[in-house]
Amino acid sequence: MASTEGGRQGTGLGFQGAAAAQAGTAPPRLLLHCCCGPCATAVIERLREGHDIALYWFNPNIQPEDEFARRLEAMRALAEAVGLPLHIEEGGEEEWERAVAGLEAEPEGGARCDVCYRLRLEHAAAKARELGCEAIAATLSISPHKEAERINRAGVVATQSANIGEPRLRFLAADYKSAGGFQRSVELAKQFGLYRQRYCGCRFSLSLRA
Ligand code: SF4
Repeated sequence: MASTEGGRQGTGLGFQGAAAAQAGTAPPRLLLHCCCGPCATAVIERLREGHDIALYWFNPNIQPEDEFARRLEAMRALAEAVGLPLHIEEGGEEEWERAVAGLEAEPEGGARCDVCYRLRLEHAAAKARELGCEAIAATLSISPHKEAERINRAGVVATQSANIGEPRLRFLAADYKSAGGFQRSVELAKQFGLYRQRYCGCRFSLSLRA
């Protein structure tokens, strides 16, 4: 189930400046895959200058259901506060289970996570194509528990498969935890009063933190 919410009414509280288009040139349209509200805060702050951002939620990895609901609620609150449209794609749980089947025993940060990143970013790339965006990006690399290189590789593969027949969508590779990015996300999440989770998302990561 897909839906779109909000956009352009928010206060931008806590952010330093809105996207400023160069005279006569529109900033590139960017779809930002958000793993959660807290991680999205500092990435939006970093990318907002110079991009026309829409937010995207597709996270069928998050378990159990009440945790999924809490994280989505935080995402909605952030989108409203910063005044950016939020495209929500629910469902996908069975697709995620099929994708990670056989990788249950992998450690956090291993092969199961590569598949999990790629699935979510493939959906982001498909949505970006539908919306006519020029680029996608992902908030995932802001986590100190995640290797940016693996996420960037998944993003490049996802955009390459979305580009078959018409190469124009690109993935913005980055490591958003650099230059104090994670600490900034902690500060901003507090300012916005967002719920912050204690584990990555799937039941395997939950059992590691229990
Ligand atoms: S640990 Fe996180 S990234 Fe890895 S499979 Fe689970 S939810 Fe996905």
